[in-house]
Amino acid sequence: MRFEFATATRIVFGAGALREVPAAAAEMGRMALLVTRRSAEIKRAGITGVPFPIHGEPTLDVVRQGVQLARDESCDLVIAMGGGSAIDAGKAIAALLANGGDPLDYLEVIGQGRPLQHPSIPFIAIPTTAGTGAEVTRNAVLASPADRVKASLRSPHMLPALAVVDPELTLTLPPAWTASTGLDALTQLIEPYVSSRANALTDMYCVEGMRLVATALCRAWRDGHDLKARADMAFASLLGGLSLANAGLGAVHGFAAPLGGMFDAPHGALCAALLPYAMRVNIAALRAAPPDADSNMESLLRYTTVARTLTGRDSALPEDGVEWVDALCRDLEVPPLSAYGVRQEDVPALAEKAARASSMKANPILLSPTQLEELISLAL
Ligand SMILES: [Zn+2]
Repeated sequence: MRFEFATATRIVFGAGALREVPAAAAEMGRMALLVTRRSAEIKRAGITGVPFPIHGEPTLDVVRQGVQLARDESCDLVIAMGGGSAIDAGKAIAALLANGGDPLDYLEVIGQGRPLQHPSIPFIAIPTTAGTGAEVTRNAVLASPADRVKASLRSPHMLPALAVVDPELTLTLPPAWTASTGLDALTQLIEPYVSSRANALTDMYCVEGMRLVATALCRAWRDGHDLKARADMAFASLLGGLSLANAGLGAVHGFAAPLGGMFDAPHGALCAALLPYAMRVNIAALRAAPPDADSNMESLLRYTTVARTLTGRDSALPEDGVEWVDALCRDLEVPPLSAYGVRQEDVPALAEKAARASSMKANPILLSPTQLEELISLAL
């Protein structure tokens, strides 16, 4: 066995953990840039600094403005509180403040992809959704509206100094957001588990996370104020972040990247719409592949464990796991991709872009162009 694992320097988890932020922040810097749209709440918690409100998923320009404001106000600490968008914005700003230059100097795909040379300035991530796990990942997804693409800044230097996961912050999340972010969390537990880069440590996290989502997600969706269900989802989301940052993702995220660039839809909603079909196509491809390939057998065994963990039945087969996820998506009223304007004529371009996406590299089996088109067509 050989693996490597890296995460945030410090993780604080628990109901009420937000109250620990002011003391921790005081030790990490003198003046914080506060990346959030929940300014009132962050002030009530005693967290002070220069507000930088963020609306929607971060663009290159938003990050540039944040860097400029932080420089003008001599900020030496960044605190981001919100969903994946706010955390990714804060993560990118903290990285650029330490490294100088423009986001395009370092951005994958549409930028020059230069490595970040220096660790980010101190960065505190406080998630308010239970889905992205961005508080413990090493990348920030940024949109370039002009190019209609999203791309990542990525570096081990970008891991947050402190992640504060307080499930109480998710109590007011509306049902549709609970569903889409929660299914993103589930995707980020299934994909690293069947990933070609899975390791023994992330396997433990993924199985425990799937077990929690199997019971907690429906409960949190029906009753947002069920703190036990919210805490289980917040923990599962954290486990997903720990896993994806160290074991990679797969076909769902391979498609979510180009879809997110071309259509105005939240990341979690795209993942939710894709998940059952990606599982179905992957499992069918693995079954159709030559049986003598050990890695394919291993991947099918992993899908068997996914199915048994989710359904709670010892006799479940990989396909039963697909059925279970499909039923969950129907129960949680997940809209199909067509709800965001994706049409049949977009299929070839999306399949081609997904084939080249970085997440696709860790998919358990190489999918053909036909299989990729089938996957995305099913999700329409
Ligand atoms: Zn995701």
